[in-house]
Amino acid sequence: MPALELIHAAFARRGHEGYGEGVSQLDHALQCGAFAERDGATPALVAAAFLHDIGHLLHDLPQDVADSGLDTQHESTGSAWLSQYFGPEVTEPVRLHVAAKRYLAAVEPGYFDQLSDASKLSLKLQGGPMGGAQTKAFEAEPFFTEAVRLRRWDEEGKIVGYQGPGAAHFDATVRACLKVD
Ligand code: FE
Repeated sequence: MPALELIHAAFARRGHEGYGEGVSQLDHALQCGAFAERDGATPALVAAAFLHDIGHLLHDLPQDVADSGLDTQHESTGSAWLSQYFGPEVTEPVRLHVAAKRYLAAVEPGYFDQLSDASKLSLKLQGGPMGGAQTKAFEAEPFFTEAVRLRRWDEEGKIVGYQGPGAAHFDATVRACLKVD
């Protein structure tokens, strides 16, 4: 099945599931993609923002898995799956979007406090704020800037009742970023 059809199938199958904060997985993805577009991101980064949590849709664990104290490492699952079809300009910001939260929690005053309760809980499971050596290593990542930008849209994309674009809105952008169909 072509990549775009697989992406649609994943959202059709599990996109209605709760993201955990009053919005569905699909709403969260659409909002993140829309905010990336609004902020003039490259097509690859818009695609990354739209697809950053696809790892949540690929596994078969229950949606309240964080409450059970388990980190599903959805950023690794998602970026590994996406790497079949996309280059690092899409997959790397996805892979690093959890690390970006740990980074910002370490370096930016006030960042932790504005996180949602679910995000605070998952941060703990993901290892908590980075230490000093980890922040330096993270800043050296080739897609450091993109990962931090994606993280901001991730925080923002939790607006209950937000009327974003439809599910097909990102088709052209996603298709343009494919390395193989
Ligand atoms: Fe997210």
